[in-house]
Amino acid sequence: MKTGILGGGQLARMLALAGVPLGARFSFVDPSENACAGDVGRLIVGEWDDRDTLMKLADCDHITCEFENVPARALEILADAGKPVRPAANAFAAAQDRLVEKRMFESLDIAVAPFAPVSGRAELLDALDRVGWPAVLKTRRMGYDGKGQYVLYSPEDLEPAWAELGGDDLILERLIDFDFECSITAVRSNDGQVRCYPLSRTIHEGGILRLAASPAGIPDSVQKRAEEFAQRLLAHLDYVGCLTLELFADGDSLLANEFAPRVHNSAHWTIEGAVCSQFENHVRAVCDLPLGSTDLRQPSILFNWIGRLPAASRMLETKNLHWHDYNKQARPGRKVGHATLVADSWPALQRAADEIRPLLPDPLDRLVGELTTL
Ligand code: ADP
Ligand code: MG
Repeated sequence: MKTGILGGGQLARMLALAGVPLGARFSFVDPSENACAGDVGRLIVGEWDDRDTLMKLADCDHITCEFENVPARALEILADAGKPVRPAANAFAAAQDRLVEKRMFESLDIAVAPFAPVSGRAELLDALDRVGWPAVLKTRRMGYDGKGQYVLYSPEDLEPAWAELGGDDLILERLIDFDFECSITAVRSNDGQVRCYPLSRTIHEGGILRLAASPAGIPDSVQKRAEEFAQRLLAHLDYVGCLTLELFADGDSLLANEFAPRVHNSAHWTIEGAVCSQFENHVRAVCDLPLGSTDLRQPSILFNWIGRLPAASRMLETKNLHWHDYNKQARPGRKVGHATLVADSWPALQRAADEIRPLLPDPLDRLVGELTTL
């Protein structure tokens, strides 16, 4: 069973680490010869629009992607060669453009923050009238980890926002004063079976995910609503594989922010915390194997290592802490690893997280307090 993955970063690496025990073997296509998935499978170095590069996946039985901005051209070349990609091109088309994505959510009765397209300076003022203050201006395409966004609190922010992002391909959204952020990861098989993981409570700073936890005091009613949203989205896209829907919980309302047509950082804790991880379930779905259980095995908190790894030795001495070093070069803002702390109960996990606080780099030492005081 040979599986090709477009992209050779940490998500591809963790897909292979989960898929090898199932008997799968992996090839990755990535423009970088240092792509970290190369440690765990065959790395094919080349450009996305290069037919010869992509044709090196010809011996693969199944093809999937580890990132959403895969160029349409790459998907076309593979489709022409009779190599379908799972999930399919329609999911990428919807996820790559925030305006298309938000309109799709609305058409599926998935609630979203008020939004308006912006294709010029004058239209921005109209959009602000419709959406209301404060608002966030975003590029429609290619944003990630909070990049390509500018929050508008007052008219004084208009000039700098326009200087940074101004163009004809933008979207304005109301800035939601949410109670908390969470995300749901779900998996769908080719024959339409769907399984949902317990919600991850997520904490972002500077637009980047820093912490995720599950379970984390989220009411069952929110879980149920999130599952309904995910099911509608998966069925509409006739989706195969894992997908994550990011959400804002605001009082009684649950608003969808965006979705990712792939395995997702907020569900990395499922490696240790769920019966079958998001990575294994994605491989199972893509390779037409029966889906695994998405049930919680043990309460988990995920710590993201951004920029560089903290010193490993004391972490490794910590009972019930699982260490994941992606073998990537340190660089500001880059995701270079994570750790998952688990315990038998949520209160025991809160205590364990408090105990390792002195080992955590800034800002995790501070942000983890939001979980330990819940
Ligand atoms: P990215 O593709 O960079 O993840 P997101 O739209 O998810 O883009 O934005 C990153 C983070 O910025 C979100 O997780 C959230 O914390 C914050 N954010 C984005 N849009 C809004 C919004 N409309 N209201 C409040 N916070 C927002
Ligand atoms: Mg996001």
